[in-house]
Amino acid sequence: MTALIAPLTHALLGPTGPQRVRSSQALLVMCLYLAFALVLQVEVRLGLTSEGQGLPLTLFGLVGCLGFYGLIRSGVNLRMSEPSLTRPQMLYSMIAVAWAFAVSGAPRGATIVLMQVILMFGLFGLPPREGRRMAAMGFLMLAAVIAWRAWTLGDPDETRLDLIYLLYAGIVFTGVAIISVRLGHIRERLRDQAAELKLALARNQELATRDVLTGLTNRRAMLEQMAIAACEIERHGQPLALVLFDLDHFKQINDSRGHAAGDRVLQRFGEVAQGEIRAGDVLARWGGEEFLLLLPRTGLEEAWRCAERIRTRLVALRMEGGQPGQPLTFSAGVSSCRRMDQLDAAIEAADRAMYLAKATGRNRTELVAGPGLAELRQDAVA
Ligand code: GH3
Ligand code: MG
Ligand code: MG
Repeated sequence: MTALIAPLTHALLGPTGPQRVRSSQALLVMCLYLAFALVLQVEVRLGLTSEGQGLPLTLFGLVGCLGFYGLIRSGVNLRMSEPSLTRPQMLYSMIAVAWAFAVSGAPRGATIVLMQVILMFGLFGLPPREGRRMAAMGFLMLAAVIAWRAWTLGDPDETRLDLIYLLYAGIVFTGVAIISVRLGHIRERLRDQAAELKLALARNQELATRDVLTGLTNRRAMLEQMAIAACEIERHGQPLALVLFDLDHFKQINDSRGHAAGDRVLQRFGEVAQGEIRAGDVLARWGGEEFLLLLPRTGLEEAWRCAERIRTRLVALRMEGGQPGQPLTFSAGVSSCRRMDQLDAAIEAADRAMYLAKATGRNRTELVAGPGLAELRQDAVA
């Protein structure tokens, strides 16, 4: 059964998305219209409306329904300023209802209810001001038809009755206008709430992925970034490089100049290092005074040169380090990762290399045996 329904729905409504919503709405209007045409036929059969007047109106409505449905299903509506076609569909239907008021005999007052249904569509599909404008337009159409009836029929009793209908129509349309204002407020509130939520979500995401002090990527987000970069190795076949930095004698900065001064040094180091890396590289605060740099599609030597570029820049800035009168320096370890499953080993290798740099005098960048050492050596030589 479902195997039958799905292609039928697809054929009638088109692929999912806004166009399907539009075509299903046009079909819904068509169903309502067919019910209206049926009632009109009953009126004709009961002798309340003449056949000659009922037929053109039925045709007018049918042509309109098919026309709007055709415009939407063919996609022509997408080239129009208002692809939903809400306004033209409402106007067309209001003309049909005003026409029904003009040609229906005694039951014409009931057509006001139809006018209300049309305005309901506007409540959801149009901005509040437009909805109110449509309500006013419907009222004016009825008023024009009543004036025309008074002019052509010249029957004071009928005119009095029509004016009572017009008053009722006035009440209905005013009610719709009031609801449209309230709905407008609700929509506005929902829009504001959605915008606030979006902002809060962005802020939360920022908090979850950034280090508060330096504004750099935090450790958790870095683990994700590294996993993504490692996955991509398989696609392009180029290794990724890691550089782990540890500021030298950082504790002494805190001890001699205070914790706040230490914080500023961490921030400044982040800024300086960030200024020396490429757009695709990621620098993270890995721990207290440790920073990890991820360089996708990069060999060992290039990564080593990048670390040295940062060192040169730090020296040029003459930032004071932990030792009195000495510049700020770091010890760094470089490693490389050529396969997804080598990532943890590569992080450990960078750590070991960094400790080697500490052990061999600090203020230097080292490489140690890590995953795929032979390839790493090849890289270093190349
Ligand atoms: P080494 O050259 O061997 O790395 O010496 P070090 O003094 O840098 O290393 P150690 O690990 O002994 O000290 C690191 C210090 O970093 C200790 C800790 O108080 C400080 N630290 C960690 N996080 C922060 C921070 O957020 N702000 C400040 N100001 N200091 C921090
Ligand atoms: Mg440390
Ligand atoms: Mg340190």
